[in-house]
Amino acid sequence: MSQAELAAGVHADQLAQVEEDAATDATDGLGAELAAVLAAATAAWVTAAESVSALAAPARAAAIGSRVGAELARVLDGSRRRARLVAAGSVVQAYRLGVAQAGAEVTAAVAELTPARVRVDVPAVQVPPRPDRPRVPARPPRPAPEPAAAHDDDDGGGELPDVDIDDPPAEDTIVRLDVWARTVLDGLDDIDDSPPDDLVDEVAGRVDEVHRDRAEQARETLRGTDTVGFPAVAAAVRHAQSAGAGTERVVRTAVNDAAGQGAEQVAETLGVGRVWIAERTGCRHCLAYSGQTVEPGEQFPGGLSFDVRPFSTAALDGPPLHPNCRCRTSPWSWAWPRPPDGSITMPTALRREAQRSILRGHALPSEPRSARIRAADRLLDAGPPLPRSVLAAAERAVAAGRFPPVPAGL
Ligand SMILES: [Zn+2]
Repeated sequence: MSQAELAAGVHADQLAQVEEDAATDATDGLGAELAAVLAAATAAWVTAAESVSALAAPARAAAIGSRVGAELARVLDGSRRRARLVAAGSVVQAYRLGVAQAGAEVTAAVAELTPARVRVDVPAVQVPPRPDRPRVPARPPRPAPEPAAAHDDDDGGGELPDVDIDDPPAEDTIVRLDVWARTVLDGLDDIDDSPPDDLVDEVAGRVDEVHRDRAEQARETLRGTDTVGFPAVAAAVRHAQSAGAGTERVVRTAVNDAAGQGAEQVAETLGVGRVWIAERTGCRHCLAYSGQTVEPGEQFPGGLSFDVRPFSTAALDGPPLHPNCRCRTSPWSWAWPRPPDGSITMPTALRREAQRSILRGHALPSEPRSARIRAADRLLDAGPPLPRSVLAAAERAVAAGRFPPVPAGL
């Protein structure tokens, strides 16, 4: 499996799994607890409405409001502690996965750039266990992902490459590639896979912030209980409920961010740059970044898009380009050997793949069809170096204003 395939495939499977588990576990039980608070408040309200005089009603309403306030504070504080723990553990786990993943991608690149000369085994990447895992309800295990490639030892790669001498190329070429491969693979052993402390502190801080915000909103709303009545209680519970969605967003973002930083750490330790990788169904903005490379310490340029208007014009350290962005980066260097069989480099392959995706309309349903047609139209004007059949099909799609259905499996 190539570096690019590995990068796109494992992101979709393993990181998405870490993200999903983190989002679910971080907010687990919150909805049910708040529903119970609301049910108890409703029952108290009905009883009060039936039994008290109009004069006594505001006092009773205020009493119910203050009880609900105390309950919401208790539930939100429990949720905050739990979400903090889950988020911190998930960030560590995602960072380690990012490091392991980038390491496997680099190994795949070494194997790709030296085929038939230097044998390199690409390690399979396992999702690292989440540290400090809080007690959560058991879920059925997911099927294990296919290993990236067969490997016959369990030390996770880094073994010295064997040279295939059946069809030997020039001796100095073998030596040069062998030395290069050893140097890169040895460099992978030096990588520390524990995330920087501030990464964990930051997500814990954001979790706290979401919960404190919602608790404050709920408190404010309950101050009006004696004048507004039950609607104020219901509104306060809704504020508390929105802590769930807010926490989920924070945790999902943090997990992806941590994985990206893990990959960056690998590139930095090896002293190489990075290449941007978008999924084939990436949006018209992200696809414009696919195959873009940066040198160490450089930022990706702002303002790239296949559409008229870019998503953002600011320079970027890396993905995400937008919320729910599925892009990632992988270590890459133009100083690495050229592909041995004269084929194109990975960044070029990624750019062509992205252009092909635009011309074929491989979009998710969330992307407006008109925008993708417009992007294909603009790309056709630029005359991309793609097969005539792809260009002709795109011409027809643009003329018709719609792409033909994508065959299954793409
Ligand atoms: Zn993206």
